[in-house]
Amino acid sequence: TLILGLESSCDDTAVALVTGDRRILAQRVVGQNQAHQPFGGVVPEIAARAHVEVLPSLVTDVLGEAGIALDEVDAIAATAGPGLIGGVLVGLLTAKGLALASGKPLVAVNHLEGHALSPRLVDPDLAFPYLLLLASGGHCQLLEVRGVGDYSRLATTIDDAAGEAFDKAAKLLGLPYPGGPAVEALARSGDPKAVPLPRPLVGSGEPHFSFAGLKSAVQRAVLAGTHRPEDIAASFQQAVVDCFVDRTRIALAKSDAPTLVVAGGVAANISVRSALEQLAASEGRRFSVPPGWLCTDNAAMIAWAGAERFAAGLVDGLDAPARARWPLDESAETVRGAGV
Ligand code: ATP
Ligand code: FE
Repeated sequence: TLILGLESSCDDTAVALVTGDRRILAQRVVGQNQAHQPFGGVVPEIAARAHVEVLPSLVTDVLGEAGIALDEVDAIAATAGPGLIGGVLVGLLTAKGLALASGKPLVAVNHLEGHALSPRLVDPDLAFPYLLLLASGGHCQLLEVRGVGDYSRLATTIDDAAGEAFDKAAKLLGLPYPGGPAVEALARSGDPKAVPLPRPLVGSGEPHFSFAGLKSAVQRAVLAGTHRPEDIAASFQQAVVDCFVDRTRIALAKSDAPTLVVAGGVAANISVRSALEQLAASEGRRFSVPPGWLCTDNAAMIAWAGAERFAAGLVDGLDAPARARWPLDESAETVRGAGV
């Protein structure tokens, strides 16, 4: 099977052509960092406009590079949420137009399902079920992934997402958006033990997350003016890693899934990857993490989730709604409710 995937839920416009046997025939990701840079964060109206400007040409480029005509694809997958509604609408309506023009089915993909299934695109041995730490710009959750459309949430953040914490720490340190890569780069020359920072919820019996207090502590450290920025960055990153490891260990104790997986933008972080790999080893679980480019937003993961849903017979009508909010474990109920 051949699936065209479109992603436009935040500040990256992306298109990819992926096969059911895990080949990426062509893909493009166009970021909008420069457009949002002056505002220190993503401005929804600017994002939506930028998606409109580049998405059609990206579709043409990807099909052209692969030498594939639109009517040769089996389905058109697009992110239908959650995300900034203007951008989601641009991608979903474009996909509906392509589906209508070609007569091919639409697959409306939950962006979080894209992240959740992304490791299976590059790791053919990754079978269900697996325990997933989903750490991205808008989410920080521990989920048991039992199958396509079958997710059970063990924990979530009670305030900020992990990527959001990186972005806020970066802003406090005067680093550019997106903060994750900038903090990671600065942390390389810092001492992770130099600045005492809290590890919110570490030690608690339920594996939830909290990062708002950590952000405030970073703010106090910056304002105190007594620490080197690289030491603050390294200490902050270490605090997040320690929270991830402790919380994920609790979740692993509640799950007999044989594999631990980490995905989402924050999974691109080398310290995060290696700490969770060590945790998996010490807990006797297999470990899988996608390459960095597949952790941050891209369309290959949306096309792949589309391929998995298409293979399971889960296609959508042209009335599929765009959704600003769309919890992943609710999609399981929707699928079951639809009787598919
Ligand atoms: P969501 O997927 O929850 O809807 P999103 O799509 O905006 O949110 P992603 O693209 O999945 O988020 O991830 C982006 C986030 O990952 C940003 O907050 C960014 O700072 C963070 N991030 C990216 N690279 C790194 C890194 N190397 N280290 C830490 N954080 C990172
Ligand atoms: Fe994302």
